[in-house]
Amino acid sequence: MKAAVLYEPNTPLQIEAFELPETGPTHVRVRLVASGVCHSDWHIIKGEWPHIPIPSILGHEGAGVVEEVGSAVRGIAVGDHVVLSWKRNCGLCEMCQKGYPNLCDEVPDERTFPRLPGSDRTMRKLLGLGTFSTATVVPQDVVIPIDKSVPLAQAALIGCGVLTGVGAVINTAKVEPGASVAVFGCGGVGLNCIQGAALAGALPIIAVDLRANKLEMAKAFGASHTVNAAEEDPVARIQAITGGPGAHYAFEAIGLTALPFRQSIECTRKRGVTVFVGHAPHGTHFDFDARMLMFEKTVIGSMYGSARPHVDIPRLIGLYRAGRLKLDELITRTYPLEEVNEAFAALAAGQVARSVLAIA
Ligand SMILES: [Zn+2]
Ligand SMILES: [Zn+2]
Repeated sequence: MKAAVLYEPNTPLQIEAFELPETGPTHVRVRLVASGVCHSDWHIIKGEWPHIPIPSILGHEGAGVVEEVGSAVRGIAVGDHVVLSWKRNCGLCEMCQKGYPNLCDEVPDERTFPRLPGSDRTMRKLLGLGTFSTATVVPQDVVIPIDKSVPLAQAALIGCGVLTGVGAVINTAKVEPGASVAVFGCGGVGLNCIQGAALAGALPIIAVDLRANKLEMAKAFGASHTVNAAEEDPVARIQAITGGPGAHYAFEAIGLTALPFRQSIECTRKRGVTVFVGHAPHGTHFDFDARMLMFEKTVIGSMYGSARPHVDIPRLIGLYRAGRLKLDELITRTYPLEEVNEAFAALAAGQVARSVLAIA
């Protein structure tokens, strides 16, 4: 199989050949058909997430077709179309049992590493998936079968960006109909916070970004108002749009610098809820007036959209099939695996909602 490897920060990914590991009793071998190009991989390429070891095959937002299942695998068959979850879950620990498998850290080590041809040397795979590859062998708990009528390029996006954004709104914040929502950042995750807010029946839905093209995309995903933070103060504008008090809910979906994190707290009303969806680079600190929280505001993080992948991914697939979840519109460009570096250049330039690698 072929895969795209990052050897050093700030260097191009290299396409290399590997030998797949054995498919063990609890493993599933998946032929990857599509992989989304997510901002998290870009953080790693830029050297901003030193906790992720490299060299590694990158990619964590994949969908494909099952080629082989281990002897102990249940509920997954050869030929199934599947979305991969990047968060393993054991099903038994406190977090899993409470309905937060996104926070499980109790899974046994079942990692499977591709080998370099004719050698015992192995290569890591990002989050155990490494979806920038033609195939991967993964534990069964991260493999979610889906309806075969859904195109796999669209389905792949559910595996990270859609689940993260929609889940932050529906699962983490539990936004209710008629509530006001502000979303900072209209990239792949922010657009999904916006469409999650639209699914929840929120109004107004206020999109904040620095780029006019991203704000245009936001309208297509359900934003009722847009604010260009390069031109005006988003906090004052959100307060004005909501008639004075600020938003009921705010989502920070950028994860680059401190300012929008603070603004996402400042822009909510009394008892407002701010959700940090963006993963900031390590060492990002910011301060805010502590008295703001005296108005019973809540600030909460959202990991992988508080998702229960085996519940939420089929639900999102169903919403897409019913025409109520926008996936086609997320895919701005498609690249072959060999052009993965061009896809990241487009991401860095802010030109795309999402690029997808069409692998096979
Ligand atoms: Zn991602
Ligand atoms: Zn668990």
